[in-house]
Amino acid sequence: MENENWYALEIDSVLKRLGSDRKSIDYGLSTADARERFEKFGPNELQEIKKTTPLQILIRQFTSFIVIILLVAIIISASISYIENTSYIESIVILVIVVINGVFGFVQEYRAEKSIEALKKLTALKSRVLRDGNETEIASRELVPGDIIILETGDKMPADARLIDIAKLQVDESSLTGESVPVKKEQGTLVEAPIAERKNMVFMGTIVTIGRAKAVVVKTGMQTEIGKIATMVQEVEEKLTPLQLKLKEFSKWLGFVTLGICGVVFLVGVGREFMIHGTIKPEFGIMMFMAAVSLAVAAIPEGLPAIVTIALSLGVQKMVKKNALIRQLPAVETLGCTNVICSDKTGTLTKNEMTVREIYVNNEIIKVTNTGYMPEGKFIRDDTKEYGGDDLKDIELLLRIGALCNDSKLVHDENEIWKILGDPTEGALSVVAAKAGLIKDELEKNHPRIDEFPFDSERKLMTTVHDIGGMVAYVKGAPDMILDRCTHIYNKGEITPLTESSRERILEINTSMAGKALRVLGMAYKEIDDLYGPGSGIADSNDSDDISEDSNDAGSNSEDPNDSGPDKIEKIEKIENGLVFVGLTGMIDPPRDGVAESIKECNEAGIKIVMITGDHLLTAEAIATQIGLLNKGDKTLTNSELYNLSDEELEEIVDDVIIYARVSPENKVKILDALKKKGHVVAMTGDGVNDAPALKKADIGIAMGIAGTDVSKEASDMILTDDNFVSVVNAVEEGRNIYSSIKKFIQYTLSSNLGEILVIFMGILLGFPLPLIAIQVLWVNLVTDGLPGLALVLDPAEKGIMRKPPRNAKEGIITRDVMENILIVGVVMCIGTLFMFYHYGAGIGMSIEELASMSPKARPVAFTTLVMFQLFNVLTYRTRAFKNIMENQWLVGAIISSILLQMLVVYTPLYNSELANAFDIGTPEAMLNLMDWLKIILVSSTVFVILELKKRI
Ligand code: ATP
Repeated sequence: MENENWYALEIDSVLKRLGSDRKSIDYGLSTADARERFEKFGPNELQEIKKTTPLQILIRQFTSFIVIILLVAIIISASISYIENTSYIESIVILVIVVINGVFGFVQEYRAEKSIEALKKLTALKSRVLRDGNETEIASRELVPGDIIILETGDKMPADARLIDIAKLQVDESSLTGESVPVKKEQGTLVEAPIAERKNMVFMGTIVTIGRAKAVVVKTGMQTEIGKIATMVQEVEEKLTPLQLKLKEFSKWLGFVTLGICGVVFLVGVGREFMIHGTIKPEFGIMMFMAAVSLAVAAIPEGLPAIVTIALSLGVQKMVKKNALIRQLPAVETLGCTNVICSDKTGTLTKNEMTVREIYVNNEIIKVTNTGYMPEGKFIRDDTKEYGGDDLKDIELLLRIGALCNDSKLVHDENEIWKILGDPTEGALSVVAAKAGLIKDELEKNHPRIDEFPFDSERKLMTTVHDIGGMVAYVKGAPDMILDRCTHIYNKGEITPLTESSRERILEINTSMAGKALRVLGMAYKEIDDLYGPGSGIADSNDSDDISEDSNDAGSNSEDPNDSGPDKIEKIEKIENGLVFVGLTGMIDPPRDGVAESIKECNEAGIKIVMITGDHLLTAEAIATQIGLLNKGDKTLTNSELYNLSDEELEEIVDDVIIYARVSPENKVKILDALKKKGHVVAMTGDGVNDAPALKKADIGIAMGIAGTDVSKEASDMILTDDNFVSVVNAVEEGRNIYSSIKKFIQYTLSSNLGEILVIFMGILLGFPLPLIAIQVLWVNLVTDGLPGLALVLDPAEKGIMRKPPRNAKEGIITRDVMENILIVGVVMCIGTLFMFYHYGAGIGMSIEELASMSPKARPVAFTTLVMFQLFNVLTYRTRAFKNIMENQWLVGAIISSILLQMLVVYTPLYNSELANAFDIGTPEAMLNLMDWLKIILVSSTVFVILELKKRI
C-alpha cells in the first residue's frame, strides 16, 4: 500500500480501497471489523525509541565510580584470603550486600521509569469516531484505516485521513510542513500535489484551527506522513524536575564531601596504626580501606533522585484517582507552592448543565419550567398564565434561532435518559425549543444550513445562514455584543427600528437576569438574500461540488477568496451587522457540588481563587457569591476595564481582583503576567484553542479533560478528567503531600548518613579502634535506608496540610529547619553510638586485637545501636510519631523486618560461626542479652525524644 495517492482518488475509490463503501460514511466500521483491522495494522501510534533498557539500568547500578572501587577492594580482599588461606566469607557477604543494594537501586529506577511510561499512556489523546452507526470516543491508538472520524476546532489529527465532509475547515500543518499559516481544506480530488497542497487530506499531528469535518482514516501509526519522519520527532525528552535537578547536583556535591571524609578516615586510621605498631599489616590496610570505601558507598545518597521520581509518580497515580492527570512531573512540585488559582467559571466552578429558565421576547418575560435535558416543560407568562396553542407562534422565532444556530444534539441513550452531545449552552437551546414542539432535526430539514461562522470567545457570537425560502442569518451570542449590532427589533412579527429606550430596557432585563445568576444569550436575525442569493457572487466553496476531477492545479485555483483572511472578516462583518433583535434567553448553570467547600479550604490554605469568565459580570458575581468566593471589598474587572489598564496599573490592583468578566482569552495572559510579576505561583484553567498561550505561560496550566480541546490539553501541565474545580484543590493538596514526603525522606536519609559518617570519623579521630567494620556499615545502610526510607514516602497524607500557607517557591528543600534536624540527628547518633562503644569496653588508644579479646561486645552493641537509632529516626518524620501508625503498614512492616534482620545478624554465632566472624560477632559472648537490648533502646530512643521535643517547642 506504499505511495498510494489517496488525494487523487474519488471518495468511492478511497473507500473501496479501504475495504468499505459509501454506507460506512454514516455507519462507520463495525466493532468486529475494526478489531480485525486492528490485528492487521496494529495500534495507531508512533513507535518510540527506547532510551534505556532494563539491563542498562541494572548495569548502571554497578558502574558508579565508588561501587567499582568497592568491587576492586572486594577482589583484593578475597585474593589475600586466598593467599593466606583464610575464609572468603566476608568478601562474599559484602558482595551479596552490594548486589542487593544494586538490585534495590534497579527496582527503584525501573519503577520510576515505568511510572513515567504509564503517565504518557494516561495522557494519550482520544478521537471521535463512527462505529456501528454511533458516534463514540475511543483512544486514538485504536483507530484503524477505514475508520470514519469527526474533527472539530481544536482537535489534533489522530491519523492521516481523506476528507469526506467539511465545514470551514482550516488546519495548522506547521508541525508537518513548517508552514505557519493555517491551510484551508477542501473536498474533491487532486492530481499531483506535494503534502502541503493536499487540501483534501488531513495529516496526523496537525491541528484544526477552525471548522468541522468528517474524514476517513487512510493511514495509521508509523505509516502516516509524520510516522515516516517520526524517528526523529518521537524522541521525547524526559525532563528532570527542578527538584530532581537540584538533588542531582546536591548528591554530587555531597558525594565529593563524603569521599573526602572517607579519605581522611582511611589516612587517620592507617596513621594511627602506624604510630602504635610502627608498621601496617596488609590485612589492616585492607580493612581500613574497605571500611572507608563502604562508608562512602553507604553515605553517598545516589538513590535520592530515583526516590524523588518514585514519590512524584506515586503521587501522580494518587492524583489520577482524584481526577487530576499530571502531564509534566515538575507540575507536582509546583502544585505544592501554588498560591493563586485562576479558574474558568462555566463547567469548572459550575456544572455546565444548562437549562433555559427565562426568555425575553415580544417585550415580555416568560418563565420556562423544569430543569434537566428532558424536553418537557411549560412556558408561563406573568407567573400564572400558561402559553399554548397559537400563542407559541409568537415565541417561535426566538426558539428557532436558538435551535438552528446550534451544533448540539439532543439524544436519549439506551436508558432513556436525555443527553446533550456538544456544548451544553447550545444543548439548553435545543431543549427549550423542543419544549415548544420545535425539534431541531426537523427544523434543519426544512431550513437547511448554507453557511456558518462558528462561535469564538473573541467575537462572542455565532452565526448560521439558512435557506428558509430566502436566505437568512441567525445570530446568537453575548447580549451586549448582539445589541451592538442590532438596528431593528422584532415584536410579534412586526419589525421596528430599535430605539434608545428599547435598547435600555433590553439591557435592564439582561442585568436582572444576570443578577439571578442566569447566563444570558441574545438572539437576532437578518435577511441576506443580497449576499447569498443568485448573482450575489458569494457561494460557499465548502458546500459546492467537489473540486473538478480534472483540476490540475488544486493548490492555487481552488482558493475561495471570500473565505480566507481579510475577506472572510469582511464577510462576517457584513452579515453580523444591521441585525434585527429578537430576544434573550436566560439559563441557569448551578455551582458544582463541593466547590464552596473547596474554596473555603483554599482560604485556609492561603490560596487565592480568581474567577476568569467570558460570561457577564453580574452572572459571575451572582455565582461567586453563591460559592463564597466574592466578599465585601473584593474588586471585579470587565474586559474593557482590563483593556484600558496599563500593565503597571493592573499590577497595582491585581491582588484585590477576584472576578474578571467578559474576558477574551488573549487578556488571560495579561492577568497572568501581572500575577506572576507580583511573585505568585499561578495555576490557570482553560479549554479553548485560544487558551493555549495562557496555559503554557501559567506555572500550572490546567486543561479540561471533557470539554477541553486537544490543543489546550497539549499546552497544559495537568488535565482535569472531570473538569471540576474541586479536583484542582485536591491536586494541590496532593502536591503539598508529595513535597512533604520527599522532604521527610531526604531529611531521614541525610541525617542517617551523617550519623554513620560521624560515628566512624569521630571514632577514629578520638583514637578509638574502628567502631564499625565495612560489612557492618553496609548492613546498616541496607536495612535502614532501603525499606524504612521507602515506607516513609508511602506515609499517608499529613492531616491539616491544607491549613498551612503554601510553601515559598524560592525556598530550597533543605530549609534551615531540615538542616538543624539533620545536624541534631547526626550528632546525637554519633554521641550515643560512641558512648555505647566506650561503655562496652572500647578504649581510646586500644588496638583492634585488644578490642577483640577484651571487649568482644563493644562492636556488636555499637553496630546495633546505630541500626536502632535509624529506626527511631524514621518514626520522628511522621507528623504524630505513633498516632495512626497502622495506617502506614509499610512503615510498621519495614521497622519490624529491619529489627528481625538485625537479630538474624546479631545471633549468627547460634547458627553459623563463619558468618558470625564476618560480622565481627565471633564468639557467643558477643551476643546481646536482654539487658544489652534495653540499654541500646534507651540510648537510641534519645534521637526520637529530642526531635519530638523540638517539634513541640
Ligand atoms: P468561562 O470562561 O467561565 O468558561 P464562558 O464559557 O461563559 O465562561 P465563553 O465560552 O467565552 O465563556 O462565552 C462568552 C459568552 O459568549 C457567554 O457569556 C455567552 O453569552 C456567549 N456564548 C457562549 N457560548 C456561545 C455559543 N455557543 N454561541 C453563541 N454565544 C455563546
